[in-house]
Amino acid sequence: MIDLYHLPPEGLRLSGTTAHLELEGDVSLRELAWSVFALASDGDVFLEVKGQAVWQGFCSRCLAPLDRPLMVESQFLGSKDADLVGRGSHALGSQDLDVVFLPEDNLDEAELVREQFELQAPMHPLCTDDCKGLCPSCGKNWNKGPCQCQPDAVQAPSALNQALAKALAGIKLDPQS
Ligand SMILES: [Zn+2]
Ligand SMILES: [Zn+2]
Repeated sequence: MIDLYHLPPEGLRLSGTTAHLELEGDVSLRELAWSVFALASDGDVFLEVKGQAVWQGFCSRCLAPLDRPLMVESQFLGSKDADLVGRGSHALGSQDLDVVFLPEDNLDEAELVREQFELQAPMHPLCTDDCKGLCPSCGKNWNKGPCQCQPDAVQAPSALNQALAKALAGIKLDPQS
């Protein structure tokens, strides 16, 4: 925990490593190394988070497992002052910093680091730039070759609906059977 309003005059620097950290949505980080610097600034707190890790998730098109190096470097001003937070940013020296509302006196550095990595995590990662994805009809990974579906049948909604209707008709809805 960082005691935000009793920081040493020269600032507080914390660092650490985490072998494995779970993020939202079945995604995780490994080999995480981070540092946090907190410095009192006119009643507010200047915060800097730096770190690197390996992001482990999935290709957003074909769902193949994926690793990506992930770097985080962010600086912002933490404040209890709702007016300052409302203005969104604050000039500090030559920097224009985002202002983040920190109503509590204490800040959990592990949670702070996790949030910053969460913000930097790739939104739509691809295994390769030209990943072909999965067939929407049969689910085959098109990176591994074409499927048996007719291209027309995959694209035309009416044909898809027909296929769907056919598939649904095959499902027995009677709970007795
Ligand atoms: Zn892919
Ligand atoms: Zn297919």
